[in-house]
Amino acid sequence: MKIKTKLRLGLGVLFLMILALSLIAARYIYVLKEDTENILQDNYKTLDYTRSMFLAIDQIHTDPKAWNEFEQNLTSQQANVTEPGEEQVTGEIVNHYNALKKDTYNQELPVLIRNDLAELTRVNMEAIRAKSDKALTTVQAAFIWIALTGTICFLIALTLLINLPGNIGNPIRELTESIRAIAAKNYAERLHFAGKDEFGELASSFNTMAEKLEEYDNSNLSQILVEKKRIEALINNMHEPVIGLDENQKILFANDQAVKITGIAISDLLGKSAVELAAENDLMRALIHEKGGENQSNGHKSGSSLKIYADDKESYFEKEMVDITIVPTGERVKKFIGQVILLKNITPFKELDFAKTNFIATVSHELKTPIASIKMSLQLLESQHTGTLNEDQKQLMLSIKEDSDRLLKITGELLNMSQVETGNIQLNIQQSSPYAILKYALDAVKTSVDQKQIDLVVQADDELADVKADMEKTAWVLINFLTNAVRYSQQESKIHIQLTGTGQGVKFLVRDEGKGIDSRYRGKIFDRYFQVPGSSKTGTGLGLAISKEFIEAQGGSIGVTSEIGMGSTFYFELAAA
Ligand code: ADP
Repeated sequence: MKIKTKLRLGLGVLFLMILALSLIAARYIYVLKEDTENILQDNYKTLDYTRSMFLAIDQIHTDPKAWNEFEQNLTSQQANVTEPGEEQVTGEIVNHYNALKKDTYNQELPVLIRNDLAELTRVNMEAIRAKSDKALTTVQAAFIWIALTGTICFLIALTLLINLPGNIGNPIRELTESIRAIAAKNYAERLHFAGKDEFGELASSFNTMAEKLEEYDNSNLSQILVEKKRIEALINNMHEPVIGLDENQKILFANDQAVKITGIAISDLLGKSAVELAAENDLMRALIHEKGGENQSNGHKSGSSLKIYADDKESYFEKEMVDITIVPTGERVKKFIGQVILLKNITPFKELDFAKTNFIATVSHELKTPIASIKMSLQLLESQHTGTLNEDQKQLMLSIKEDSDRLLKITGELLNMSQVETGNIQLNIQQSSPYAILKYALDAVKTSVDQKQIDLVVQADDELADVKADMEKTAWVLINFLTNAVRYSQQESKIHIQLTGTGQGVKFLVRDEGKGIDSRYRGKIFDRYFQVPGSSKTGTGLGLAISKEFIEAQGGSIGVTSEIGMGSTFYFELAAA
């Protein structure tokens, strides 16, 4: 039965019972009123008339008014005959009174009338008693009916009181708990309300909803699993190693290639902290190191490339670490959720690079001897023994000399560069005097400085400590700074050279008043083969790159400050010995 019907029925019955109770009570009160009214109207008046007639009959011989009094009351009594037998007694009184009227002094008739009056009183008293009994019965019946109806009302109200709150409250409570379970993703939750009332309908709707949610959840899960498998297969089929880390650097996934190069079983990788693994595995350490790889085997930095033994040979990988961020549902701020380490196999490029470097090294090495012999021949030509040269021949010889000098410089730089690239720089680090390095460099650039009539201003601190340096290579760097400064300075300008003690070592500084370097290119001038667009084409773009390699290989630092049009300041610093 529906709750609405149940409520209507319960309250309706209660209402009807209360109505019945009221009607019964009203009816009995009415009946009782009727009964007492009858007694008053019918019997009380008769008794009153009878009492007056008694008094009148007693005074009938002494008071002439008594006749009249008696007659009046008798007439009233005649009009108030209500009880069975009363009419007969009243008739007797009338007869005896009429007889007395005729025989006024009859002594017997007043006695008879008194007897009649007594009889009339008795009949009425009897009627009063009967009516009182009847009223009593009515009261008893009323009591029974009212009590009965009242009890039924009470029972119905009690039943409603006990059952109704539970009937409504319990299903609501169960429903609330089930909704909570669904909210907690327990989609297997169901409601079990028996009956066909509103709660039954609610339960069936709820169960349908839960079933659909469960189905949706399952289908979603399987779909997600398929997608996950697809992505895993995709990552696994990639030829390059890929490792995924969560925000706490725990390994989330690693493809076959990654497993192969790290040499760690997949079961030992997944879910493990990359930091902990890095403590035991060099490669892992290099992988999670933010700056990328550093080839430890020969102390040679190779940017972000890593040298790893893979595919049965030494392979080179370029590491890329990608931060993964997402915007969580309902939020606006990006959240960091982990990183993906991608390794790009650059071995073929490296192999080509090596081939190129070897080629350059061989060519520049092979060229050195013929250039040296050209220079020798030039020197012989200059001497008087080989004959006198005319002016044109002298000019030609000068230009051959300049070209061969340039060729020697270029081959020297190329050789140095190939040594740098192959990691074969032979450093001869020893305690060296900064003054000696300075003198060596100044001697080397003297001719070109004089040619441009440049004023070299040297400022060297007194008693500078010796530095840990390869004398020749360091002088080469200083010469490079100076030749660049001369090359990019105007005729008759100034070049400042400063040697300063820094506490930890010595700083060599070359400042020119040339055209300066545009901020766009400042970060690139130490790159190999880089030349600022529009600058002198005579260089190779290798000088500063080699200088950087030389200084850093000696544990020093190198840098530049420059403003366009304001000259440039190149410096390097070496540690004290
Ligand atoms: P290069 O052999 O071309 O001089 P470097 O490596 O020595 O090669 O220099 C790289 C570039 O830096 C040059 O092409 C030049 O444009 C710029 N550069 C170097 N020194 C100076 C300087 N003192 N003033 C202005 N530009 C300079």
